[in-house]
Order: sequence, then structure tokens, then C-alpha cells
Amino acid sequence: MPEVSSVKTTCPYCGVGCGIEVSLLDNGKVKIQGDKNHPANFGRLCSKGTALAQTLDLSERLLQPQVSGQPTDWDSALAEVADKFQQIIDRDGPDAVAFYVSGQLLTEDYYVANKLMKGFIGSGNIDTNSRLCMSSSVVGHKRAFGSDTVPGCYEDWEQCDLMILTGSNTAWCHPVLYQRLVKARKNNPDLKVVVIDPRRTATCDIADLHLAIDPGSDAFLFNGLFHWLSSNGFSDDDFIQQSTQGLADALQSATADSSSIAAVARSCGLNETELTRFYQWFGQTEKTITVYSQGINQSSSGSDKVNAIINCHLLTGRIGKPGMGPFSVTGQPNAMGGREVGALANQLAAHMDYLEPADIDRVSRFWSASNMSAQPGLKAVDLFNQMHAGKIKAIWIMATNPAVSMPDSNRVREALQQCEFVVVSDNVANTDTAQYADVLLPALAWGEKDGSVTNSERCISRQRAFLPAPGEARADWWILAEFAQRMGYKGFDYRSSHQIFNEHAALSAFENFGSRDFDLSGLVNLDPADYANLNPVQWPVISGQRGQQRLFGDGRFFTASGKANFVALTPSLPTKNSSDEFPLVLNTGRIRDHWHTMTRTGKAPRLNRHIAEPYVQINQQDAASIGITDGDLVEVASTQGSYVGKADISHDVRPGRVFAPMHWNDQFASNANIGRVVNAYTDPFSGQPEFKHTPVRITVRPSHWHGFILSRQRLEHRALGYWTSCRREGLWQYTIADDKNCNDWSQFSRLLLDTDDKDGEWSELLDSTGQTYRAARFVDDRLDACIFIHAEKQLPSTEWLIQLFAYQLVDRKDRLRVLAGSPLSSEQDQGKIICSCYNVGRNKICKSIRDDRLTTVDQIGEKLQAGTNCGSCLPELNSLIKSPDC
Ligand code: SF4
Repeated sequence: MPEVSSVKTTCPYCGVGCGIEVSLLDNGKVKIQGDKNHPANFGRLCSKGTALAQTLDLSERLLQPQVSGQPTDWDSALAEVADKFQQIIDRDGPDAVAFYVSGQLLTEDYYVANKLMKGFIGSGNIDTNSRLCMSSSVVGHKRAFGSDTVPGCYEDWEQCDLMILTGSNTAWCHPVLYQRLVKARKNNPDLKVVVIDPRRTATCDIADLHLAIDPGSDAFLFNGLFHWLSSNGFSDDDFIQQSTQGLADALQSATADSSSIAAVARSCGLNETELTRFYQWFGQTEKTITVYSQGINQSSSGSDKVNAIINCHLLTGRIGKPGMGPFSVTGQPNAMGGREVGALANQLAAHMDYLEPADIDRVSRFWSASNMSAQPGLKAVDLFNQMHAGKIKAIWIMATNPAVSMPDSNRVREALQQCEFVVVSDNVANTDTAQYADVLLPALAWGEKDGSVTNSERCISRQRAFLPAPGEARADWWILAEFAQRMGYKGFDYRSSHQIFNEHAALSAFENFGSRDFDLSGLVNLDPADYANLNPVQWPVISGQRGQQRLFGDGRFFTASGKANFVALTPSLPTKNSSDEFPLVLNTGRIRDHWHTMTRTGKAPRLNRHIAEPYVQINQQDAASIGITDGDLVEVASTQGSYVGKADISHDVRPGRVFAPMHWNDQFASNANIGRVVNAYTDPFSGQPEFKHTPVRITVRPSHWHGFILSRQRLEHRALGYWTSCRREGLWQYTIADDKNCNDWSQFSRLLLDTDDKDGEWSELLDSTGQTYRAARFVDDRLDACIFIHAEKQLPSTEWLIQLFAYQLVDRKDRLRVLAGSPLSSEQDQGKIICSCYNVGRNKICKSIRDDRLTTVDQIGEKLQAGTNCGSCLPELNSLIKSPDC
């Protein structure tokens, strides 16, 4: 299909920040490809990026402002928001209002939100959902370097000889970086990979060593390494002397609890041999990178864990040079942009700080702020706690879904319910958070909005619009600027994202003189064409220079002395231990093909093929002692709340530990928001919640029957005890179960399908025991819906049935096979989809592995195409090759 035009933009999902080339075809469709020239991905995309074209339709979009559930125009909606905010500020002061924003916002949106709250409303109460993602890294960086700086770049991943991935399922959460690492390993057989994770994840596929440490014990491990490196002659004395301070205190602290391999091994639940091997590899390998992510940050001692890692790199002088350094990878596409503009409640804009009166004064003068805040605001968990206590009276939530993503989300929902005034600006109409909104404001989505984002290696890229603004949707910066002008604030008469970017760059350069790491003086006063065509560039971009790949290679840091700080720390374990009542420890995280609360990825049928239902990973030993068998419906409960999913019995989690995904919510399942279960303990410095460690118990959830529905129409099953829903190619897929029996399945199925006999032609089967019921409805000889009910939890595979929905004419044989519950030939049922890009299922892959004697993923790719596009399924293909069950 000929191209009409193409646009270069950036992926809206993870912190890798891949460049994308979007082609608009003359049939009106959109083609998505990786941008071959973008330095983050050089043309690669993962499964999520590849499926972006399936997320662009306008279904489920919010397209008009609403006040109290009624559609209205922008003037009325903004007048309502401004009046209400002003009333509350006049009555209760500026600290009674708050913004809760998001790493999904563009830097320009973020900049205006932060300026508005901190410079004009006069409160520090703006916090971002990046608080939940990487705020512990921010604290760790600032304590060690005097600045929030990621020292290295992605190229270092390809230049190192030892890669340590700790608290990071890189294969699923940052897949393109993982693919770059896989390739680097092929090119350099000496490159070793160590994975440190309580769970065996897909990332372990390339691990030379997997350290399955006890949850939360990371700081013991790295304090032990710090002491061991120092005791075994691996210190870089020149670097320590010239570029660091505080070594003696830090070593003394580390020695107190981590002075021997035996003691550390005990603290971390490891054996001494594997621990010694790791320490020796680190000591002997100059080019070492330690990559860390949410497994380190999401902890009640995340900041200390970050500094325990950085201490080891400072001790060995391995920082800011090719192939070495500590490396924090962020979760969101613009978490770094949020840090740049100061959208964390305890930061000021352009990497300035509330702790420095001169910084407050400087930002205030630059903005001509009418009411500059002098104190940090409330961090996310505190913010919702204060709302629950009635102190926060108005909140404006932008591009995020805290009713799902916050820990102890039942309490967050209560807080929103009782909050006097809730504004939500989003591009999606129905989210768990939107139902609490007094005012809903329609924002632009990816593909429609225009601005910039910064990825994990400090690379600023443009996100460009390639679609028109639909309905009444507007840019977030426009919404904020209109609100600010109605509040009577000066300095918000922006006409474009370009104008805002220039102001943001100018603030970074304002009275900087090399004193702050974040410096865009080289990008000040871009003209509109320069901004439109801006190529990816890593900050700092100092006037007259190019962007910088690495910082600190010269041994100079941003502390007052110019030296990096070793941080003395005493490791601590997670806040709450397991108990007789809650004997297991819950870990939460992402799955391969979904993103956050599924508002976008849930729209892509391709991304629902891999894992279609919420689940709980549990070890065989624990499952046996509780009486759980694979596929049982189980309830995970803590003191906060509960979650229901399917049991996935696995040796990938150790006894005593369980794992559940973070994505599902009330829009996609009856009770699968894991945030309801997670405890809301936080790190005392960063305020980041402990998502990786909540004591829980698990029980089997009894069901009289289990079933599924496939239907071309979207249905509601909220009255059932258990349901999940997901969008598939041209239809909706539902899993259902209930503990109440049914006397008339035929009538019940018509109720569930929201239909009667007038609609189409029905075929039904009820077995003689009354234990199995199957029905299919055909309209114009096409399969329109089918429903399967069984007394047992084992249900027929759905993939071959889904394929039948594509047929224009379902013949008699296939109609009978639908009622029989199996395809004519077993080859028609390819089982669970492993490769989402080419729709290749487990059964098909296993058959080919057996019949064609395939022994490598390359051979599978040649035979079936699986794994040859985005590569996200390569670890699973590898494990199928090794699996005796395949
Ligand atoms: S790795 Fe995937 S999700 Fe992340 S930015 Fe790249 S394409 Fe998007």
C-alpha cells in the first residue's frame, strides 16, 4: 500500500524510549515501524510498540468535557474547575488542593502543571506517578552525586563485560534493551550476565548466574560486595582520593552486618559458592554495569539499596566511562522528563531543590511567580492519606489511574469518594479513577499530542502528532494554561508546545554556570522549525556543545566539594514480615504484553493473546500444602484487600513467595486489582511504596461451574462471582465462573449473551449429567457468539474457536465441532499464543520442535516465523526447547 506521509515519533510505553516511524497509508491505515536512526532502538520494537496501530481507534475515548456526568463545553467545564479550586484555596489555603500527574505526560505538559502549582497556586502539592516507579533512584543519585543524574548510556550495555541486572525483568519490562544485550552477548562471548531476582523470570534465559535472593535483602548483598571489594584489593585508590568522600563511614557501616561471605549468604538466602562467584566476577571485571529497576526502587529501603549499588561503583571508580556504571532504568516513557521539570513534590524545576533557598528564589524570579511555594508538597501515598483525612479538598488527576495503581487502593478509592472536588483529565472515558470525577476533561492521546519526552539514558526525543485531535480533546498543556488564565495567573498565554519547551530550556540555563547537571542552554530559543525537526539528543546540551553520552568521566560531581559521596547505610528488611495469618510474601510486576492499567494495551487484540487472564504464580510446595491445583481460581488476601486470579503453579517462584501482575482492574475483571492487596509502607526518604513485599494468604475460591464466552458484542457480567474480559480479533473473550448453581443453562446463557431466540440461529448441547453445556449462536451463517459451561475448571482451548469467527460461512461440520468442544484436527488448536506478532501458539511450536527436531530459536523462526519480529517471545521459545513437557 503506497505511503502518503511518514512521521517520526517516540513509543508511549516504557522508559527505553524507542523511536518509531509512523507511515500513513492511502487506505487510511497506519503502519508502525521502529525508527532505524533512533539511538535507543535502531529500528527494533517490542510486542507492545509493534501493536500500537491497534490502539488508535476512538472506541472508549473521552471526547467531550463532562461536569457531574453531563456533557458540556470547554468554557463551562474550565469555569467550574477554576471556580471550585479558587473557592477551596480561599477557604482552606493552597495546600488544600493538589495535582497528581503522570510519566505519560509530555515534558511541556509537565512543565506547565509544575509551574502552575508551585509558582502560582503556591503549594508543593504536585506529585507524579513516577513516585511509584523510580523516586528511590532520585534520592540515591542526589545523595551520591549531588544531582539526579544517570551517568551512562545504552551503548554501555553493549560495551560491558559484566552485566548485573538486579530487580529488573528486563526481558519483559524493557524488551528492546534486553534484545540489545542478547545481541551484545552473541558478539562478545566473554560478556557475563548476572540476574539478581527472587523470581526466575524470562530475563534469566541469558543469565550465567541467577541469584534468587530473599525478597528485600539487596542492600545486604551490595553492602557485602562493598566490604569484600575493599578487603580484597579492588578499590581504585586514586579515584577515591580525588573524586569521593565519606568512604570510612560507609565501610564501617557495611562491615557491621556484611563482613563475611557466610553472613551475607545467610542474610540473602544464598549459598556461599554462588555469592563468592558473583563477588569475584564483579571484582575482576573492569567494565561492569549494574542495571536496576523497580525491584530495587519499590521498597521501604529503596534509597539505601540504590546507594549500596552506587557505593560499589564509586569504590572501584567504575562510573562515567564506556561500559561501566550504575544504571537506573525507568518504567515510564517520560519519568525522566517529570524529574527535569520538578514534578515530584519534593523537587523544584530544572533539577533545583527546595533545600536551597537560592533555588526557590531563582525559580520564582524566572517565572515572575505570584505565589511561590517555599516547602515541598505531599508525596503520593501521603497525598492520598491526607485526602482520606479530609485535608486535601480538591485534586486534579492527569493521565493516570491511581484507583488502580496506588498501593492499598481500596483506601485511595475511599479518599477519592469523599474528596470534595475531583477533576480527571484523561483520554479514556471509563477508568476506575474516572468514576470518582466531578469533572472529566478530554485530553489528547499518543499520535495526537506533540511535545518531547526523555528516556532512561537522558535522551530527549520528540513525540509528534500524526492524527487530528478528535472531538473536543485538547493538549494537557492547553487545558492547564486555560485554567491558569481563568485563575488570573500571568505567564500562561502559551500558544504551542514549542514555546513551552523554549521556556523549559531557558530555565535550565538560567544562572546555571555549570552548577547544575540539567542544562539545555544549547537548545534555548529554538525556532519552530528547529523544534519540529529536533533529533534525539542526550542532555546536558550545553551551549556550543553536542549532547553528552556520559557524565562523571572526569571525576567531577555536583556536590559542593565536587566529590561524590559514599553513603553509610544499614540494610533493613521489608517493613512487614509474613505471619501465621499471612504466611506468603506477594511480589507484583509487569507482564510481557501489557502496560500499566491496560487503558491502551487492552485495546490491542494482539496483546491479549499472550496472557488473557489475571493469575497468581505460586510454588508447587505451597500449592500442595494449601490444596491448590494448577488453574484453580484462588483468592490472594492481605490486611488491605483481596485479588482473584488463576493459580499458575511454577518453580519460578520459591516456596513462601507468590507473584501477581499489576495490570488488571475493574474494567477487565471482577476482582483483580492487585493494588487493593499491596501494603502502603514507603521508603522514608523517597516515599516510594513497597510494591514488592506484602504478606498475604491464599485460598482456593470454590466455584460450581467454569466457563467462557466469545461474542462479537461487548457484554456486561458484573453480577457473576468471577469474570474477566479482553478484546480479541473482532470479538470479546470472557472467562466466567460462579459458586451459585444454575437450573436452566439455556435461559441463563441467553441472559449472559443479552439476547433471545429471535437473534440468530442457536445450537445447544447439554450433556446427560447436566455438567456440560455448550451453545453457539449463528447469524447469517457466521459464528456470532458461543458459550461453554463446565463443572470442571478444565475448559476447551479458545484459540481455534476464535479463528472460526473469521469465517464468512461456518459449515455443518464445524458447527458440530463447536458443540463437541474440539476442532476437527488437533492441528487446528495451536494453544496458548506465544508469538503475538505472528500468532503462533504453544501447541504448534511444540509439535514443530518434536517433529522437525528443532533445537534453537533461530530454527523455530525459520520454520514458523515465531520470534522473528519483535523478539519479545524469544525467552519463552528457548524455555519450550528445554521443556520436557513440550
Ligand atoms: S521497549 Fe517496547 S514498550 Fe519500551 S519503548 Fe521500546 S517499543 Fe516501547
